[in-house]
Amino acid sequence: MRHCYYCGTPAPVDTSGTRAPTCPAHGPLWKLVQQGPTANVLVERDGMILLAKRGHQPYHGHWCIPGGFVDYGEHPEDAARRELLEEAGVKVTLTGMLGIYVAPYDRPDETDWIQTTVYLGVTDDNPRVNDHEMLAVGWFSPEDLPDPMIPSHLIRLAHYVDDRTWRWSGQTAAGSMEPG
Ligand SMILES: [Zn+2]
Repeated sequence: MRHCYYCGTPAPVDTSGTRAPTCPAHGPLWKLVQQGPTANVLVERDGMILLAKRGHQPYHGHWCIPGGFVDYGEHPEDAARRELLEEAGVKVTLTGMLGIYVAPYDRPDETDWIQTTVYLGVTDDNPRVNDHEMLAVGWFSPEDLPDPMIPSHLIRLAHYVDDRTWRWSGQTAAGSMEPG
């Protein structure tokens, strides 16, 4: 339970609309809403895409575009490459970006959101289940997806099929602006 930062009153989640912790007197408490960064990679090969089946909550048993949380101080590009190696055993080269997506991260009595950068990528490696987080990995046609899939990932894949993608042109790179 979170508490109002004006009056300290417990602020239950508004399940009707905003999904924000909401004080009866002061309304939605947006400063208490966390939006964690994540990164996914849509790996392409011969018209197929790489998907993974989740082995943990939320969405245990659902298929997804592989990826995960960006660590503290980590660039999303580095997180994307790290997560694909961890979850699917593949070294990826990023080739573009599909977009940035915001979706609720469903946990009981929590109000968190995630902000996901979805990259495109390629690999020469053969995917394999590489840790405890995934039950299976494999190549699929974007026109013939496995079931069930995480609903928010279906939206991303619909954009992908519509070719609403930004192809990598090399203007940005992780580590290109070193601090100091
Ligand atoms: Zn209040």
